Amino acid sequence: MPTPILQVRDLHKTYGKGASSFEALKGVSFDVNEGESLAIVGKSGSGKSTLMHVLALLDKPTSGSIRLNGEETDTLHGKELNAVRNQTFGFVFQQFFLTANQSVLSNVVLPLKIAGVKSAERKQRGMDALSQLEMDSKAHNKASALSGGQKQRVVIARALVNNPKIIFADEPTGNLDTTTGTIVEGMLFDLNREQGITLIVVTHDEDLAARCDRRIHVRDGLLLDDNESSKGTRGEAR
Ligand code: ADP
Ligand code: MG
Repeated sequence: MPTPILQVRDLHKTYGKGASSFEALKGVSFDVNEGESLAIVGKSGSGKSTLMHVLALLDKPTSGSIRLNGEETDTLHGKELNAVRNQTFGFVFQQFFLTANQSVLSNVVLPLKIAGVKSAERKQRGMDALSQLEMDSKAHNKASALSGGQKQRVVIARALVNNPKIIFADEPTGNLDTTTGTIVEGMLFDLNREQGITLIVVTHDEDLAARCDRRIHVRDGLLLDDNESSKGTRGEAR
């Protein structure tokens, strides 16, 4: 049996302290296998984004363990943590987080710049990623000049540029009309299938969730046992 790419055990996340504190994750455990597509579903406020941020090492859990390729991640700090995140993950969020007055290409190559890749190689790899999303003709346009669907394609190109092992997508079609959303969705699944990139997608879009290999359902900070394939989750509903 190969080691799962992510092993999540008894994750807790509490925001704030004292009387105003809020426990957003109450003990969540599951594995993610390399190359699979996993949907994280559940109502608004159930803890999906919290879970994704913690999984993507953007935020620390209050307790519990996340192993990435078998390695415990809670010992990672500072530059080392940034490097692991930058080399291993790509991010596609509902808000595009593009720098509006910069070119499409400079937005896409930002992760490479952070990683210290030289300018000529950045340009090459940035253009390759944009070509994959059929956005190379817009490379020198300002990001602000794009439509919503084009922006999200640029965001996917940026998520790809570092050859990530995992793409985390939080409501990636949430700001798009249905047709554009379907196209963007298709692009994410193509990357999953054709390049074996593990796809973890937070969504309350039933169609999007149904296209994933597997889903986990978050309710009030806990996982529900939805089906056979979510074995290994704790699954205690209230
Ligand atoms: P979802 O993505 O499923 O809508 P979230 O993970 O964003 O849910 O939020 C889960 C719960 O945690 C919500 O009740 C939310 O209000 C609370 N929460 C999220 N972020 C914070 C924060 N930074 N401080 C305090 N509470 C938060
Ligand atoms: Mg959310």
